[in-house]
Amino acid sequence: MGRIIAAGHLNWDVTLRVTALPDPDGEAQITEQHRAGGGSAANVASALAGFGLAAGLIGSVGTDQHGRMATRELRTQGVDTDSVVTVEGETTVKYIVVDEAGEVMVLANDGVNEAIGPEAVEPAMVEGADHVHLTGQRPDTAAALIEVANAAGLTVSFDPGRRIEQRAFEPLLDQVDVLLLNEREATAVFPAASGPPIERAASPDRVIVVKRGADGASVYTGDETHHHPGFAVEAVDTTGAGDAFAAGFLAATVGGESFGRPGSGAEPDYERALAVANGSGALTVQAAGARSAPSRVALAAFLAERTV
Ligand code: ADP
Repeated sequence: MGRIIAAGHLNWDVTLRVTALPDPDGEAQITEQHRAGGGSAANVASALAGFGLAAGLIGSVGTDQHGRMATRELRTQGVDTDSVVTVEGETTVKYIVVDEAGEVMVLANDGVNEAIGPEAVEPAMVEGADHVHLTGQRPDTAAALIEVANAAGLTVSFDPGRRIEQRAFEPLLDQVDVLLLNEREATAVFPAASGPPIERAASPDRVIVVKRGADGASVYTGDETHHHPGFAVEAVDTTGAGDAFAAGFLAATVGGESFGRPGSGAEPDYERALAVANGSGALTVQAAGARSAPSRVALAAFLAERTV
């Protein structure tokens, strides 16, 4: 069984379900509130632990109560938080406002979720791991983590997230074994008009996974393209869907977890990995909050019902 370390943001999320997103000077009613840990890397680590896999997190919180709650919650879920550092300052808090149609607005303070710089990256942080999963973070820190992971012979995946265009991630994108992008990010990185299409940009050494929302996802290996259409469910809140998808994909590839189905051998079974990842994403959008990834048992049951 593979041990996976996620590195990136650990936040405190306040999810407010409202009757409508208010216009300036307007007001709306909060119909539901949900407070829990968030941040992409932490969401992935939490989902992996929920699948029963060994998961660790590299990230930073402040000295306030939100930081203590976010860290404690992860520990309770079974995530190794030894590489979560506490620094002077405020934990990053995101106010996620979701209307009845599932439309989302996010408010955030700066917070200390990027306090780990490249100088603080140490080989000990990835010791005993088989894989490192990077989410949106300082590009220099991500570069240092890739170096440390490579030196230790670990595989690396990267899900740069929605700020991909504002950050200098470009040099890192072909240094990882698996690159995860949503459709908008994929179009930004591999514009059809210039440069090679995704099919040619991908290779067995840099597999590209494109998440397509309600339409499922695709895997490009350079040699082959796999697509899974996803699962039709009623979406309530898509926050964290990409993180739950990543956790499912990693569980099925690096983690060797096929959720009820016998493994198919040494080569990753991308068809199965896509089914697992889409199942994880689909179950997550059915519930509010960013930490709504399914348990191992719930995901296995969902997949058993819908796949042969
Ligand atoms: P991101 O959240 O990273 O922007 P997507 O919106 O593509 O990425 O969502 C990630 C994954 O979550 C999708 O590939 C799919 O598996 C699942 N998902 C997202 N939205 C839906 C939906 N409306 N119905 C079913 N599955 C969904």
